[in-house]
Formats: sequence, C-alpha cells, structure tokens
Amino acid sequence: MSADPIAFAKTVLTARFGDPRRDFALIDAPVEVRVCPLSGLKTRLTPTRVKGASLREDEWPDIGDAVAASREGCPFCPSALRTRACALDESRFGQTRFVRGEATLFPNLAPYGPYSAVTVIGAEHYTEIGRYDPARYLDAFLASRDYVRKVQTLDPSVAFAAITQNHLPASGGTLVHPHLQVQADALGPTWCANLREWQRAAHVRLGRPFWPALADYEQEHGERFAGATGRWRWLTMWAPQGMCEVWGVADAPATAAAFDDGLAREMVDGLLRWQRWQRRRNRNSFNLAVYFFTPEEPALRLACRILARGNWAPFARNDRSFFETTLGEMVFDQSPEQWAAEVKTEF
Ligand SMILES: [Zn+2]
Repeated sequence: MSADPIAFAKTVLTARFGDPRRDFALIDAPVEVRVCPLSGLKTRLTPTRVKGASLREDEWPDIGDAVAASREGCPFCPSALRTRACALDESRFGQTRFVRGEATLFPNLAPYGPYSAVTVIGAEHYTEIGRYDPARYLDAFLASRDYVRKVQTLDPSVAFAAITQNHLPASGGTLVHPHLQVQADALGPTWCANLREWQRAAHVRLGRPFWPALADYEQEHGERFAGATGRWRWLTMWAPQGMCEVWGVADAPATAAAFDDGLAREMVDGLLRWQRWQRRRNRNSFNLAVYFFTPEEPALRLACRILARGNWAPFARNDRSFFETTLGEMVFDQSPEQWAAEVKTEF
C-alpha cells in the first residue's frame, strides 16, 4: 500500500453570461481545472466549448493529392536513402547506419543534440494512422533502441534518451515518409528532465514508483483505464497534456538496456490500438514518445505517451491554440474519462 494516496485535485469554476442562443438569459458555464498528480501541471476541461460545423471533424480528410506531391524528391524513399541520408562516424559506431529489416537509422541532418538521429520505418512512402505493419514498426523501435544503447556505451554522460514520432506534417514534422526520431543527451530536454524529477518526488511521496501506483489505481477504478498489452497498461491521464493523450506504463526500469524486444513488441501493439481509435475519430496525425533514463533508479519506470494532433487537411485546425502555446496550459472540450470509454474497446 502507498504511504499517501495519489491526489486527483480539481477546482470547478463558473462563467456567467447572457447567452445569445437563449435570448440572453444568464447561464452558468462550468470550467474544470484539474491538477496532474505527477507533474502539478494544470489542465482545463471546457465541456461547453462550441464546435464549428465548418471544421468538418466528422470527415476522414482526403490527403491523396498532398501525399502524391510529397513523393517527389522524398529523401527517405529507398532510391534516395542511400545517397541522401547522413552517415554515422564509423570509427566510433562501427557502422554508418543501424539497419533492422527495412528500418534504417542515421544521424539527423538537422540535429537537436550531439546524438540526434532519424529512423526511417520502411520503404513505404505513406502509411495511414493505425496501418503500420507491426513487425516493420517494431524493427524501427528496435533499431532506435540499439542506437541508444550504443550511444550510452560510447558516452556515459548521456542520461536522457527518447524515441519519438511525428506522424504527418500536422504533428510538426516536415516529411510525410514515416520515420522516428532519437534523442540521446546529457542535457535532458525540458519534459525529460521534468519527468525524472517528478517521478523522484512522487516516489518519496508515495513510498513506491509513481507509474505502477497510478496504473494500479486506474485499473481498479476503471474510469481512465483503457486496457493492457502484455506488460504495458494504457491509461488516459487525469489532467492530459495532449489531445486524446494516452500513456502506456510498464513496471520495468526506464532504461534502453531493459527495453527488451518483448516490451517493444507489446508497446507497438498498444500504440497501434490507439491509432486505430484515432482513425475511427477521423484523426490522421499524432506525436509519440518513449522515455529512457540512465543510470537505472527505483523511482523511474518505463513509460510512453501518444497524443493526437490537428488533421493534416484542407480543413486543418491545429490543436495548439494560444492558450496552450502562450499561456502554457492545455484545454480540452472532452474528458479523459470519455476517451477511456472509447479507446478501451480496442483493448
Ligand atoms: Zn518517401
């Protein structure tokens, strides 16, 4: 049993105004401010937010022309990859690229740090959300993991690593051709560094690691629990930081060394289930990340997250508005409990 319960804090606010749809009768519109029990970050739930019918969120966007246009000059298609992708320093890495099946990892031409890399998932230029071949997708994660492991043997100062993905340009990526990114750094990006500190503090507070404690609670109560794939449990978060955000947590060390082939395969299974849910919601774009830390610490357990982005489409609306980008707080018009009720049918 944990020493302290996980705190699911919230404050309900009210906005009172004359509603033009009801002859300006005064109404009270509720706004719920939730506090994340891990990070302390706040999130607002605004169930009365009006959805624009002209946004066509009920339609699967036709991106055929844009995909076709993106084929020309694609540096990740097989004919270009050999000559246009960067090469690793062979004297350090023993090879110029990391290859597993169709997956190919190489240095990022636009690096974010000393070991920034890109992993092209396969020969296929465009893959619809949820339609990744599981074995090919897995190979890309394994090639990325192998690279992180190698980097950490070469440079023990690398305490933070993450494997990430932008799916389609609406998620912030520049290329349609499916690929992952690898970050491995002594200087952890803000979220990675925070995640380590938040888990350390929660471990002290709860007397056990945060992720398994949270997963136990959510699995028992069910409201935000989606399901499990092998050792991974999948949940929506009390105070999400992304649209339709789901976290996968496994009670295993959060290190690349411990991220074995089985854990990777079971993670891919969960990520694809989430993607199929988004396909049903007519969403075609997402971001994901799986986080690694070294050295191993009891407080740090394996976790990944995946979240939807505004569609890449003629009717695109990016889900980051001013409130998120300039005020630093996420706003949602649906609750994580609604998402859990929907996504759990895929598990
Ligand atoms: Zn391509």
